[in-house]
Amino acid sequence: MSGQTTIQRSWVEAANGHADFPLQNLPLGIFSHGDDQKRAGVAIGDSILDLRALRSTGLVAGEALQAIEATQSGVLNAFFELGLVARVALREVLHSLLVEGAQHRQVVEECLVNAADCVMHLPARINDYTDFYVGIEHAKNVGKLFRPDNPLLPNYKYVPIGYHGRASTIRPSGVDVQRPNGQTLPAGESTPVLGPTARLDYELEIGVWVGKGNQLGELVSISEASDHIAGLCLLNDWSARDVQAWEYQPLGPFLSKSFITTISPWVVTMEALEPFRRPQPKRPDGDPQPLTYLLSEIDQAHGAFDIELEVLIQTERMRSEGLSPQRLTLSNTLSMYWTVAQMLTHHTVNGCQLQAGDLFGSGTLSGAEPGQYGSLLEITEGGKKPVVLSSGEERRFLEDGDEIFLRARCVRPGMVSIGFGECRGKIVKAC
Ligand code: CA
Repeated sequence: MSGQTTIQRSWVEAANGHADFPLQNLPLGIFSHGDDQKRAGVAIGDSILDLRALRSTGLVAGEALQAIEATQSGVLNAFFELGLVARVALREVLHSLLVEGAQHRQVVEECLVNAADCVMHLPARINDYTDFYVGIEHAKNVGKLFRPDNPLLPNYKYVPIGYHGRASTIRPSGVDVQRPNGQTLPAGESTPVLGPTARLDYELEIGVWVGKGNQLGELVSISEASDHIAGLCLLNDWSARDVQAWEYQPLGPFLSKSFITTISPWVVTMEALEPFRRPQPKRPDGDPQPLTYLLSEIDQAHGAFDIELEVLIQTERMRSEGLSPQRLTLSNTLSMYWTVAQMLTHHTVNGCQLQAGDLFGSGTLSGAEPGQYGSLLEITEGGKKPVVLSSGEERRFLEDGDEIFLRARCVRPGMVSIGFGECRGKIVKAC
């Protein structure tokens, strides 16, 4: 497995010390350049290595070539389906071509395009999207707002809770978020009204890309589950809290969540994340152990990730006054009560078929302390305590013109840090 045994530099100068895309990351995505067709690329520094152009150089052969050929349709589904071996073969070839001192530098240099001149697209055709609820601090914080004495329902510590979300409204970073209309029940009234949501919120999540799928009726065991995961991205599960409060019982979220979901367009592979794996944090005393089908020694020892997560806001006024985006949240994926492998295995325990390119959301990843809450619902206690911004403005929920930025970064002493790239969306008025 390609870890970071020695710290190596790239001949792509901007990659060295790059916040997101040094040589050690090599995430895959789908981009277009001018009027050209969508095609697969790899982020390196401020450039994208065009895999179609690389293929035509004849420098790549064997399994790595097969991997590139699986990306030629302009989506990564077929590449994901090839699984771990193909992904590692491609990663090794890319590394050997981009490392400092590599042969063929001039030929490979011809395959680089300036990322700033490109448009990023969704990396895969997403057939199904499931949003989990594995951030236990978020579950407690939200539970407390509704049930102060009993924030967590009894199933939480046994079941990686989730619901089936809407795949058709997932968009890459940068697409505007139109304030949705919906039914809400005004305070003290018994009849709902239709109108733009007044309680628009963000949710800080990671996205999990399903690699190899499974057959209908077939369980993916916990020991095999990580072979079925291709990589991670950032995910903002935009939420209309007033719509949600009225519609969610008894079947869960519906239109309060399905108007748009924003993801970061680069797939950060499991191989790039390998150095940032951690043991799954020990459950507090008194918590039950997971049922056997969700328990594996390797997953418990290695199944969590140490990824720093951040949310920033920039309002219209902040932009016009030249004020930088302001941090709302700083948290970490170590707050996940279930591992990504447990999420995937649980999803298939009933025989549900997953397909390459399916996407999971983790659920909001809040920490336990103020400053670590992954949504405004938690930060403002349901709108009761506004946040004061550097512009002097207050926010209980999001206003038109507000832009929300999610960031993710993996940091470990002695290792080159990697990031996930941008995941942003700006609120525009309802129609
Ligand atoms: Ca969510």
